Amino acid sequence: MAVDLRSDTVTRPTKAMLDFMLGAQVGDDVFGDDPTVIELEKYGAALFGKEAGLFCSSGTQTNQIAINVHCKPGDEVICHEESHIYRYEGGGIMRNSGASVRLLRGNSGRINPDEIADNINPDDQHYPVTSLVSIEDTSNRGGGVVYNFSDIQKISQICKQKKLAFHLDGARVFNALEVSKTDIKTYGSQFDSISVCLSKGLGAPVGSLLLGTSEFIKKARRVRKVMGGGMRQAGIIAAGGLYALKNNIQRLADDHRRAKELALILQNVDWIDTVIPVETNIVVGHVKTGLSEQAVVEKLKDAGILAVTFGKGRIRMVAHLDITDQDIEFVRKNLPNSF
Ligand SMILES: *Cc1c(COP(=O)(O)O)cnc(C)c1O
Repeated sequence: MAVDLRSDTVTRPTKAMLDFMLGAQVGDDVFGDDPTVIELEKYGAALFGKEAGLFCSSGTQTNQIAINVHCKPGDEVICHEESHIYRYEGGGIMRNSGASVRLLRGNSGRINPDEIADNINPDDQHYPVTSLVSIEDTSNRGGGVVYNFSDIQKISQICKQKKLAFHLDGARVFNALEVSKTDIKTYGSQFDSISVCLSKGLGAPVGSLLLGTSEFIKKARRVRKVMGGGMRQAGIIAAGGLYALKNNIQRLADDHRRAKELALILQNVDWIDTVIPVETNIVVGHVKTGLSEQAVVEKLKDAGILAVTFGKGRIRMVAHLDITDQDIEFVRKNLPNSF
C-alpha cells in the first residue's frame, strides 16, 4: 500500500460519481446540444455570478484560452514569477498568444497591488502593451496560500482604472474560499475571467471551467476549437464535474484539517528544517541543508509515502479526496524519522 500525496489531481472517481456519469444525457457539444455540458457551464457560471461558462479539457487549456482572448501578440501579462501560467504551461503565453510576461516576485506566490501598479507599462512605443493581470488563488508554489480579499479588490480596481483584464487561475479557488469565507459572487465579480479545475480537490476525473461574460465566452469557444478542444459527447465527463461541484466543495475543510496534521508530523522529523505554515491542502517542507530533495522523495517512496520534489530543497505533499484519517495515521507511523 502507498499513500499518494503527490497531488490532488490523483483522485479517482467514486462509485457515486461514476454512476452519475453513466446516467448522463449527452449530445454533441460542438453543435452546442450536449445537455450535461450546458448544465455544467450554467451551474458553474451561476455559482460565481458570471454570465457564461465553457467546459474545457484542462486548467492549462482554460488559462491559455483566457490569455488568448485577453491579449494580442506584443501585449504583456503581469503575473507572479512562479505562477502556473508562466512556469507550468509549456511557454504557452508566448507560444499560443505571442505575448510577453512581466514577472513579479510577490510574497509566497501572491502579487500585491502596489507592485502591479508599478509594473504597468506607460503608453510609449518602446514597451509592450500591458493588457492582463493574472493571479492564482490559492497559490500552488506559495504552498497553497490564500489571497486577502482586500488585495484582490485593490487589484481589480487598478485593472479597471488602467483598462486591463483581470484573470483568476482558480485551479484551487474552492480551497481558497473555504478558508477566506468570502461571498462567492462578490469574489467572482472582481474578475473578468475565472478558471476553475474540476479535476483537483473536487475529485472529477477530467476537466476545467472557464467563466466570464457571454461575449468573452463566445470568443473563448472559438479559441477552444482552434486549440483542438472542441469535444463531442463531453457530457460523460462533464457529469463528473457537475457531481463534483454539487457534492465535493463542503468536504474540502477535511483536506485542510488533514494537511495541518501532516505538517505537524513532518515538522517533527530530523530531516526537515521548516514547514511552510499550512493554510489549505498543500504542505511544503524545506529539507535540512545538505540533503537532496530527490533522495528524500525516494526514501519516502520506499516507506510507502508518495510526495514530489518542489524546487531546490523542498518537497510537497497534498491532502485530497482519496486521503483518509487512516492514511494520515499511516504517515505518522511510517514516515522515517532520520536517514
Ligand atoms: C493544476 C493547476 C492548473 C491546471 O493544470 P491542468 O493539469 O492543466 O489541469 C492551473 N493552475 C494551477 C495553479 C494548478 O495548480
